[in-house]
Amino acid sequence: MIRCNFYIDGAWVEPLRPGAEHPIVNPADESVMGAVAMGSAEDAARAVQAARRAFEGFSQTTMAQRRAWLAQLKTVFEQRYTEMAQAISHEMGAPWDLAYDSQAECGPGHIQATLDAAADYPFEAPIGTHGQLLAEPIGVCVLITPWNWPINQIMSKLAPALLTGCTVVMKPSEFAPLSARLVAEMVHEAGYPPGVFNLLYGDGPVVGSALCADPEVDLVSFTGSTAAGVSVAKAAADTVKRVVQELGGKSPNLVFADAPLEETIGRAVRKCFNNTGQSCNAPTRLLVQRAVYDEAVAIAARVAAQVRVVHPRERGDGVGPLAMRRQFETVQRFIQLGIDEGARLVAGGLGRPDGFERGYYVKPTVFADVRNDMAIAQQEIFGPVLCILPFDDEAHAIRLANDTPFGLAAYINTANPETAQRVARRLRAGTISINGVGNEYCSPFGGYKQSGNGREWGRFGLQDYLEYKCINGQ
Ligand code: NAD
Repeated sequence: MIRCNFYIDGAWVEPLRPGAEHPIVNPADESVMGAVAMGSAEDAARAVQAARRAFEGFSQTTMAQRRAWLAQLKTVFEQRYTEMAQAISHEMGAPWDLAYDSQAECGPGHIQATLDAAADYPFEAPIGTHGQLLAEPIGVCVLITPWNWPINQIMSKLAPALLTGCTVVMKPSEFAPLSARLVAEMVHEAGYPPGVFNLLYGDGPVVGSALCADPEVDLVSFTGSTAAGVSVAKAAADTVKRVVQELGGKSPNLVFADAPLEETIGRAVRKCFNNTGQSCNAPTRLLVQRAVYDEAVAIAARVAAQVRVVHPRERGDGVGPLAMRRQFETVQRFIQLGIDEGARLVAGGLGRPDGFERGYYVKPTVFADVRNDMAIAQQEIFGPVLCILPFDDEAHAIRLANDTPFGLAAYINTANPETAQRVARRLRAGTISINGVGNEYCSPFGGYKQSGNGREWGRFGLQDYLEYKCINGQ
């Protein structure tokens, strides 16, 4: 049985007082693999104090030293890459190819993008006629992350924090403890000084809110649900911390009648179901121009019915289990809600797929004739559930696309580059993908509206961790 403890001040430690534990459950078969120690407010304070003590020295190290440490962390990550893919696959059920090729790859990907971005970042520059502008590490950073792309979220925060000279308290999701534990081991192996990186587990209301309220913390970088993001911002407000929020999404995927339909709809369905629909930027609302709507619905239904549901250890493409029972129940509730709201079920539906009696597997599901005011069109489901809606013309498509509280990503499919560019400029979303072209690690990632504040990745990620100081005169 695995036991996940805390890594504080350079050593693995038990919680200060014995308390609750969170079971580590294998989503593929619901077996218990171990337990996570859940912290208290005292554990949170202990981790913050370690980070605060370490900040004094670490913030004064040179950029060259910190580049060497981060490059070493990348080397260690690459050496233990397979272990990381295994950890991710076990803890949240990602099928092996996805865990290995995409999920774990975010580790070295973000580290390299951060090193590249810092190479020409103006950490010191003249300003005006007599000023000098310094970009300095902001201080002690609390990094709170979810379970769905665990290494993507951890490393897109950790790499820029460490490179800029900040010290860190990481609180990963209690549902993805194994990948985070491995990161702590890697940081240790890379030789960072004690206290620069600290890891503790715990729930949002106890540990998360204690960290956010701690006056010794300078920044909270949070990725998770919009509801939790609001609580984080409120808890941090009294001590005037910087808060960076990467929150939920309900991203539209616009298909104009001139797009190659078979290819476009196939890609749309697969992208929505990728990671079992548990991606914040999943294109979950498929908006199709009315002239090709019926044909598109038929293609989507056929493609969804052909999608393989797979055990995480199986090779090749496929949809694995959802990460946890809570998510399984949420997705079932939304499928029932879609039926009750009068949407037309054209693939999937309630219950587990045939052949899966245990594990958090759900049927890849497609609803057609969805109205944008339905709950299934407005709320984040976080499962393999696609909603298809018709639109009449460009203006109607833009109106529907923007009509949710979220604004994380949007997808456009058309054979006409002018249409694509015109529509892209009207959509209120942080990332726009035209005809399937996706983000790179140097691209900014983040959302408009209730999808968050700020941007991560590459040079945009560096900015979150920096304070500016203007020195005037000699
Ligand atoms: P969640 O909000 O339940 O939890 C995320 C993290 O926040 C966990 O570590 C949790 O313990 C902690 N937390 C919860 N309540 C808290 C509180 N009051 N104070 C402090 N910390 C608290 O989200 P989840 O279920 O783990 O992840 C799924 C959500 O994350 C989805 O909404 C998804 O869209 C979002 N997400 C967003 C992005 C993005 O970049 N925009 C990326 C991935 C996931």
